[in-house]
Amino acid sequence: MRVHGTCHHDCPDSCGWVVTVEDGRAVDMSGDPEHPFSQGELCPKVNRFLDRVHSPDRVLRPLRRVGAKGEGRFTEITWEEATSVIADRLHSTIANHGAEGILPFSDAGNQGMLALSGISSRFFHHLGTTRLIRALCGPTVGAGVRMTNGSSLGFDPLDLEHSKLIILWGTNTRLTNRHLWPTIESARGRGARVIVIDPLRTITADSADVFIQPKAGTDIAMMLAMMNVIISEDLVDREWIDEFTLGFDELAAHVAAWSPARAAESCGVESEAIISLAREFATTRPAAIRTLVGPEHHENGAMFFRTLACLPALTGAWRDRGGGLTRSVGSWQEQLIDEAALDRPDLLAGRSPRVINMSRLGEALTEADPAVHDLIVWNANPMVTIPNRELVRQGLERDDLFCVVHDQFITDTARYADIVLPATTHIEAVDVVPAWGHLWLGWNEAAIEPLGEAVSNTECFRRIARAMDLTEPSLYDDDLTLIRDALPTVDIDNLREEHRLRVPYPESGLPWADGGFPTRSGRVEFASEDLEALGHPRLPDYTPPREGPEGPLADRYPLQLLTPKHHLRFLNSSYTHLPGHGDREGGPFIEMHRDDAAQRGLDQDSQAEVHNDRGSMSLPVRITDRVRPGTVVIPWGWWADQHPDRRVANSLTNDTLTDWGGGVAFSDTLVEVRPA
Ligand code: SF4
Repeated sequence: MRVHGTCHHDCPDSCGWVVTVEDGRAVDMSGDPEHPFSQGELCPKVNRFLDRVHSPDRVLRPLRRVGAKGEGRFTEITWEEATSVIADRLHSTIANHGAEGILPFSDAGNQGMLALSGISSRFFHHLGTTRLIRALCGPTVGAGVRMTNGSSLGFDPLDLEHSKLIILWGTNTRLTNRHLWPTIESARGRGARVIVIDPLRTITADSADVFIQPKAGTDIAMMLAMMNVIISEDLVDREWIDEFTLGFDELAAHVAAWSPARAAESCGVESEAIISLAREFATTRPAAIRTLVGPEHHENGAMFFRTLACLPALTGAWRDRGGGLTRSVGSWQEQLIDEAALDRPDLLAGRSPRVINMSRLGEALTEADPAVHDLIVWNANPMVTIPNRELVRQGLERDDLFCVVHDQFITDTARYADIVLPATTHIEAVDVVPAWGHLWLGWNEAAIEPLGEAVSNTECFRRIARAMDLTEPSLYDDDLTLIRDALPTVDIDNLREEHRLRVPYPESGLPWADGGFPTRSGRVEFASEDLEALGHPRLPDYTPPREGPEGPLADRYPLQLLTPKHHLRFLNSSYTHLPGHGDREGGPFIEMHRDDAAQRGLDQDSQAEVHNDRGSMSLPVRITDRVRPGTVVIPWGWWADQHPDRRVANSLTNDTLTDWGGGVAFSDTLVEVRPA
């Protein structure tokens, strides 16, 4: 039997796959050759997905902790025992401290619609618990673009095939969006040029026609200087500006102060390179800017995207198919989804419980008032993925904290849980996957029965609700009912049969050529009163991060730490611990420029201690010319066991929130390095 599914990972590609099942066991998984975007190819990690499904380390029964928190010793219990312990504890917390003492915590460990929300959201809304802001990655981009365009919608990335200039701004396409690369190569075959702008010389930068390497977090200065050149050399599209934008004269006066020479001092890019970039962008048609989420992780993260969105409006790039700005296309998919029907915020019944930003989990567990008493984690491994992780660890070590983790493995977070519940993998549960890298909404059929006693996220919360004797009927809706509620305009039987559907998108491929921007003015807002009302500059502006090379900590911690995705065989904190994945990537390390290493008495393979006020960790040094002097890199995703001192990259990172949008500035982290 061959069963079609859609990859669920936190990755824009949402590839189609086919699972071969024999005697109830999944024996093969391969890319679906009919998937219009991934065209039969999976990636090195998911090519070995069945190793994950059948791993001897899978959690297949509920577990109760018998060792100390963090030790990782558990004993098997029944589902009935587990849910009864959880129900008693949640009832007791609600009675003694109120429902805000319960913090749900989850993220995009599985991007399936039902895995992310549905019964879980209904359950927590019904109880009236603390609400979580899930903005570690992604929402800040949309929040920034919306302040310029009124909408976060960009053009279909596959229309890059029409582009003659493609600027890949802060995105490592060949690694993190690999199935888009053939489209870019095809455009190049027809004469397009590719410019990569990134603080790291990535594998994508190696393939570019031009590579520009600003200091991390300084790109806005470069954008302002580009606008200075475009306006002062009269390379603007005056007709489009007059018809569809607001505040051009204010913007022109503002960026007049941003000469390329001034920007060069901030961003470390030669002024001639900025001038050439501005001229090429303004005089090539169609000219596209492609970006994803990387640049949002600075204090000025939302302003980055608000400023970036001004560039195509200045040059009228939106007029052309393959011109303008392309980013996540999740917003096109969301237009099909009735979130209120899926998540049922009406179950809050007029209550308005507090909200906690997931990136401040450490603070929430150690300082929140009223305190967090119970933490319920699914789809997430915050001990690896959340910045300022040593503070998270201190919170999880609290004797009075009750923690439940629903997962497939004993992750770094699960080691601290009181109860671990076994979770299905994506081939064991039906779901729908809205993609954010292309325009196909994917069906995911369950290929095999759940292994052991594993259950999906939806079933997990149904069981807890039942153990708590909750009588709200919508907590017990089955998965197909949830899908039908969430996609009211979609023929679900057809989606299931066809495995995917293309979401509505303008046939012309020109989402904004004729204006229609849903801002208050109905135009692209170079000057934004809404932003001003929120206490931000009304015009695009560059503010250096406080924890950056121009900030007060730079004397003590002169090196800027970046923690990018780097590996082919794992993604975020998934797969790292599995044979054939983390072990083949060679273990964690710190990359340093030769000059920075030499100044500190370090060389290739020296053992270094990397430290700041949040923590310290010991790592081998790799000398590289991929970073500028002053920048160091620790690729992230490794678990504590893989580090000799049980620290991870996020032990050092900054949990300051972004200017707006709720994101987090973990790429504004300063460290010092010395021989270990
Ligand atoms: S992780 Fe990304 S590239 Fe790999 S199979 Fe899944 S969607 Fe495709």
